[in-house]
Amino acid sequence: MTDFDVVVVGAGVTGLTVANRLHAAGRSVLVLEARDRVGGRLLTEDVEGVRLEVGGQWVSPDQTALLALIDELGLEMYPRYRAGDSVYIGRDGVRRTFEGEKFPVSETTAAEVDRLVEELDRLAAQMDPLSPWEHPDAEVLDRISFAAWLAGQTDDPEARDNVALYVGPAMLTKPAHSFSALSAVLMAASAGGFSHLVDADFILDRRVVGGLQRVPLALASRLPAGTVHLDEAVTKIEWADEGATVFTGRGSYHGRNVVLAVPPTLVSRVQYIPALPPVQAQMRQHISFGLVIKLHITYETPFWRDLGLSGTAFSPYSLVHEAYDNTNEDVEGETRGTLVGFVSDVKADSLLALTPEERRSRVLEALAAYYGEQALTPVHYYESPWMADEWTVGAFGTSFDIGSLTRYGRHLRADVGPLAFASSDIAGLGFQHVDGAIRMGEAVAARILA
Ligand code: FAD
Repeated sequence: MTDFDVVVVGAGVTGLTVANRLHAAGRSVLVLEARDRVGGRLLTEDVEGVRLEVGGQWVSPDQTALLALIDELGLEMYPRYRAGDSVYIGRDGVRRTFEGEKFPVSETTAAEVDRLVEELDRLAAQMDPLSPWEHPDAEVLDRISFAAWLAGQTDDPEARDNVALYVGPAMLTKPAHSFSALSAVLMAASAGGFSHLVDADFILDRRVVGGLQRVPLALASRLPAGTVHLDEAVTKIEWADEGATVFTGRGSYHGRNVVLAVPPTLVSRVQYIPALPPVQAQMRQHISFGLVIKLHITYETPFWRDLGLSGTAFSPYSLVHEAYDNTNEDVEGETRGTLVGFVSDVKADSLLALTPEERRSRVLEALAAYYGEQALTPVHYYESPWMADEWTVGAFGTSFDIGSLTRYGRHLRADVGPLAFASSDIAGLGFQHVDGAIRMGEAVAARILA
């Protein structure tokens, strides 16, 4: 059969949510996926004997759409390991341990961080994350970079560096001078407030037993056999008001509706006949992926636990700006310990310019500064390769450049004839997270059914 009610492009969580909801409502659905697997940015893989969450992995309490789906699919979760002290390396280069979520900085810096967090919470509370351009200060906040906004708020460089860390390297994975203060407020509003971004125990709360890719795998398994075509990249779409024909290297398929469940940057990789309206093509030239290298370093034992450390470490001044204990508590008989760390934006640029051996040494040296000399001798080292993968080309997600959220944001979720667009990157709540992928998938399915 080549005629369907709906053709979905992309078998990430967004596309598979759309397909599940439409199939459950009795619609005929086809899902076309470019890769040889489902899950998109979720990938749980055995790499040389170590099971790794190569892409997304953590679930936080605000992700109620994801929590409901995990429940619906009958999956189980377990908490991230967090017993013991965390480590912070400050602007003075001194390593300090601490408990709770507040970094061990001077009293004046701590007071400045608190004041900034309070102000960002206030701004986020005024925003509907589905329409950030309607924020009372939208125009002003969208014209200024987050770095410039922070500089206007405080003279304390360590307070600025810490607050920038939560949104820049840790979330949008872009330098704080390259996205607007409005985008920073959106990131906060989409997670239920800036205070949540500051709290690693909240944001990185739990993991799914067996890995988060079990969510898209379970969604795919609920569809009738043959619904998901792997290795079928969509290259061209011919569309008219009544429907669209989708072309791949293997054939063509007709749908009354077509859902592009791909990141906004990859929407433009497809050829459209006729071309999409100019604003659509313009808009997507102002959206880009951030860049972060997710590092997985496995040791014979989780040695940091014996040192009284939780494995949680932060520093805006380290190559690895954040790291956590990522030991697979759900793998029976696992005695090894795994740390996960992140190298983001311009630090990632400089790391990627090195040879693999140099990269590994630089990363291990950064970890040794957090956890001591034992960090220099892992049994396994792996860098997630999303930036080199043509069906993502970056990580974690995409965001607008300065001034474009107010200029184009309202077109992000607009249908074009029979074409609908969905992705975690255009979500309100759950923006750039699996929760947002589910919300966007459900919204598009509801719109088509209506
Ligand atoms: P994608 O997963 O990108 O799916 C899009 C699919 O479309 C892909 O499978 C792609 O191959 C396919 N595709 C693209 N173009 C075409 C085409 N032309 N034809 C056919 N198919 C096409 N989120 C969390 O909630 N918690 C986390 O801890 C977390 N950590 C992350 C860590 C990393 C390293 C990364 C990369 C992401 C992380 N995320 C996390 C984000 C989360 O993974 C994504 O927001 C979510 O998985 C995106 O789902 P999606 O379906 O919208 O997009």
